[in-house]
Amino acid sequence: QQRTMVDVNQSVARTLFLLENQTLFHDITIEKRFADTALWVDADVQQLNHVFMNIILNAAQAMEGKGELTITTGASAMGEMVTVEIADTGPGIPADTLPRIFEPFYTTKDEGKGTGLGLSLVYSIIDDHGGRVSAANKPERGAVFRVELPAYSGQG
Ligand code: ADP
Ligand code: MG
Repeated sequence: QQRTMVDVNQSVARTLFLLENQTLFHDITIEKRFADTALWVDADVQQLNHVFMNIILNAAQAMEGKGELTITTGASAMGEMVTVEIADTGPGIPADTLPRIFEPFYTTKDEGKGTGLGLSLVYSIIDDHGGRVSAANKPERGAVFRVELPAYSGQG
C-alpha cells in the first residue's frame, strides 16, 4: 500500500495499453472519452490499475471479444470526485445476478474460467480509497460500471 498522486487518465490509458494487443481485444472497438485535464487522486497506483484491468477484462469477456468498449473519465460538477465509466455492448447483467456481482466467489463463468474474485477485489480497493463502485445495465444493451474516487485535495 503506497499512496501517491495518480492521474486516473494515465491509469486507464496504461491498462488499455497492456490489454489492447491481446487476442480477446482484436475485434473490440475502444472509444476513449478522456477528460482533457489530469484527474488526480491519492491512490496506490498498482491497485488502481488492477481495478480498471478487472472491469475492462470482464467487459471484453462479456462481449466475447466483439463489440464496443466506451471509457469515459471526468469529474463531478464541484470537482470533488473523479469518475470513470466503463460501458460495453455485451449481454448486460441479468437482474438476479446484479445484486451479487461484488460478492467474493460469485461467478457465472464456467468452472476454471472465473474465480469470482475480480469484482470483490475491485470493491474493497475502491472502498479502501474512500470511493464507490456500482454496476448497471444500459437501456440499449450492455453493462456499465461506474467508479468514483475522491479527487486529490492536497491534505492526505
Ligand atoms: P469472474 O470474472 O471471475 O467471473 P468477477 O468478480 O470479475 O468474477 O465478476 C463476477 C460476475 O459478474 C461475472 O461472472 C459475470 O457474471 C458478472 N459480470 C461482470 N462484469 C460483467 C459485464 N461487463 N457484463 C456482464 N456481466 C458481468
Ligand atoms: Mg473477472
